[in-house]
Amino acid sequence: MPTCGRCGGEFAAEELTRHENGPLLVVHCPDCGRVLGRYRRR
Ligand SMILES: [Zn+2]
Repeated sequence: MPTCGRCGGEFAAEELTRHENGPLLVVHCPDCGRVLGRYRRR
């Protein structure tokens, strides 16, 4: 379960804000917007 390094919140994967950035899927903290990870899309 991802934990945000800025606000300390723990979130289930489906709670994260998702943003497509070209070939990458970027996930953000839903509370403060910090980027938590980038995943390559298929
Ligand atoms: Zn946060």
